[in-house]
Amino acid sequence: MTAYPSLEQALKYYFGYDNFRPGQREIIEGAMQNRDLLVVMPTGGGKSICFQLPALMKPGLMVVVSPLIALMQDQVEGLRKNGIAATFLNSSLNQYQTRIREQAILRGKLKLLYVAPERLLSERFLPFLDLVQHQVGISAFAIDEAHCVSEWGHDFRPEYRQLQLLRSRFGDVPVFALTATATDRVRSDIITQLGLRQPSIHIASFNRQNLYYEVRHKNRAAYKEILELIQENEGAGIIYCLTRKQVEEIAFKLQHDKISALPYHAGLSDEERTQNQTKFIRDDVRVMVATIAFGMGINKPDVRFIIHYSLPRNLESYYQESGRAGRDGEPSRCTMFFNYGDIKTIEWSLNQKTDEQEQLIAKQQLRQMVDYAEGTVCRRTIQLGYFGERFPGNCGNCDNCRHPRPLEDWTIEAMKFLSCVARCKERFGMSHIIDVLRGSKNRKVMQYKHNELSTYGIGKDKTADEWRNLGRSLLHQGFLAQTDDGYSVLKLNSLSWEVMRKQRQVSLAIPVKSEITTLQRNTKAIAADILVYRLRKLRKQLADEQSVPPYVIFADSTLKLMSQLQPQTRDELGKISGVGSNKLSQYGDQFLAEIRAYRQEQDSSPSLGTIRQGDNFPSITELLTLQLYQQGLSITEIATQRNLRPTTIVRHLCDLIEKNQSVDINKLVSKNKQQKILQVLESLGDISLTPLKEHLGDSYSFDEIRLVRGRWRYKNRK
Ligand code: ADP
Ligand code: ZN
Repeated sequence: MTAYPSLEQALKYYFGYDNFRPGQREIIEGAMQNRDLLVVMPTGGGKSICFQLPALMKPGLMVVVSPLIALMQDQVEGLRKNGIAATFLNSSLNQYQTRIREQAILRGKLKLLYVAPERLLSERFLPFLDLVQHQVGISAFAIDEAHCVSEWGHDFRPEYRQLQLLRSRFGDVPVFALTATATDRVRSDIITQLGLRQPSIHIASFNRQNLYYEVRHKNRAAYKEILELIQENEGAGIIYCLTRKQVEEIAFKLQHDKISALPYHAGLSDEERTQNQTKFIRDDVRVMVATIAFGMGINKPDVRFIIHYSLPRNLESYYQESGRAGRDGEPSRCTMFFNYGDIKTIEWSLNQKTDEQEQLIAKQQLRQMVDYAEGTVCRRTIQLGYFGERFPGNCGNCDNCRHPRPLEDWTIEAMKFLSCVARCKERFGMSHIIDVLRGSKNRKVMQYKHNELSTYGIGKDKTADEWRNLGRSLLHQGFLAQTDDGYSVLKLNSLSWEVMRKQRQVSLAIPVKSEITTLQRNTKAIAADILVYRLRKLRKQLADEQSVPPYVIFADSTLKLMSQLQPQTRDELGKISGVGSNKLSQYGDQFLAEIRAYRQEQDSSPSLGTIRQGDNFPSITELLTLQLYQQGLSITEIATQRNLRPTTIVRHLCDLIEKNQSVDINKLVSKNKQQKILQVLESLGDISLTPLKEHLGDSYSFDEIRLVRGRWRYKNRK
């Protein structure tokens, strides 16, 4: 049947991958036996190859139904880069272009055709398909995003329903249905709606091992944490916000802080939105700050972090939205910020819903979302449990598994809190109870004479936030109830009384300040980073020349492997995962040349050889600056080459000096001035720059003072 002795060899030849991902092989075997298929895999699981490889190995044309035009173009672009004969037909083409493509299909020149469902089912197109079937044969219909046939899915499209017609018109042609939707209901809907015949069903685990999940408390410092997250991690990311206003605000702040960021929301013109999206996909901008309108049709595999600045609507949405990180299987980070204020806002908006059933469901979903956010067990156990998948926990890749939060006994405080609810006659909400506990003198407290209660002021030793944390936890653990009439009046239940009678203990997970985990790296890893940086630059340059997204040239993981293995010959390069035969011949020499140039520079310039080890290790960006500086480039030259501001370069040099790297500053500051600056530092100590400059006079620049201060600081620390 095939010219390749094994499926693995075909995979390597066309796509450059060495191994199948879990499930792919079995699915492809089923496809080769002309069976109908139902493939359920999470985003990034690798669904595409499940029909693309069979398309290449079977005779005839595979017709791929895909709902989004933008996605279609990306996929076809990616396939062509692998030398695969694929095309699409959609409304973006004129008649002439369409006819040429149709003719190529009828001459058997193409293996894969992407179409939108409305075109596929049009009266003009179906007869054309008959002709294709007659002349070259149709190897299968692959229905991507198959959950669109189901009203129970999150993205129902009526035109998908009509796809049944394919079954009756092309009875023998196998149908492959593919989706990332996790619920049972949608799955069985797909089978019936598309009329699948005893399909071979493959349901992959929804565990995305490469994603790190964490929840952080959202307080005033949240923006600073976001900024740190972006600065400490590399690569592209998305920040999801609830409102346009929030989007604008955060995008603006990030831009101000020199992060390459753009907004995306429904208030922008279509043109602006498309532009911003394209910039993101092409790596021209690093961070998208967006409402959830962004991301649906985006197939960018190398998104490295997803931050939710507000609580998602439900766990399924959270799973899908955060799942846009790390499709390429590389480590990526999903961070959610959460506070009680957010719940209040959402609860309020839910109370505006008029349909009672809808409101009930939405509230239940919100509750599950809060469960997740507050949960102290493995985040994966909660997420996967939601989809009916059992996960034993201890994943080692979520905040709760890596930094278990200490449980504290808060029984006494719980007793105080609950009895205060009782004294206030179960007629008030949480804020009021906390006011009474903390002895507030506000009007409401006075008006009801709650300053005369025995529980007044007995909780001054805890902050309002701490009491709130307890109150929420009591609600959450069922030790307290709350009316859902929009007023959230606190009510006692039988468990509350058990707590007050000391028959039950109350433990509370204490929030710990989340720390940003930066990877400890050694010199060798840093050196590899520098090569990756150069290979990325080459990739970006090639991508711009051909106006395609960088990832269709090589994946991040492939560049990393190149920098680790540093292949010298085409043969060696061809062995790397992600380098298929076509890409090898198209780009191989350029990448080999870059690797060679890098190695030569390493041999002749001592820069990386002299990186000194220590706890205070320079960052990658500092090291890039160092490398160029040691090659003899001036500050302005480095700034231009690196697309940074000269002051940033100076700051890098100062930090490098403070981190004990050898930076020769004699070129930048005369010996004489150095001495003067040192004298002033000795007598005044480590004060800020402005008073230092006042002492030294106008002939000294801030940069000069900064550089010498760096050296002085390092010496003093020793
Ligand atoms: P899905 O459609 O399920 O979201 P894709 O088919 O887009 O996933 O695949 C996600 C990423 O994984 C792509 O970058 C793809 O090239 C890569 N990939 C797929 N299969 C393999 C494999 N066997 N080995 C390595 N990478 C793979
Ligand atoms: Zn875990």
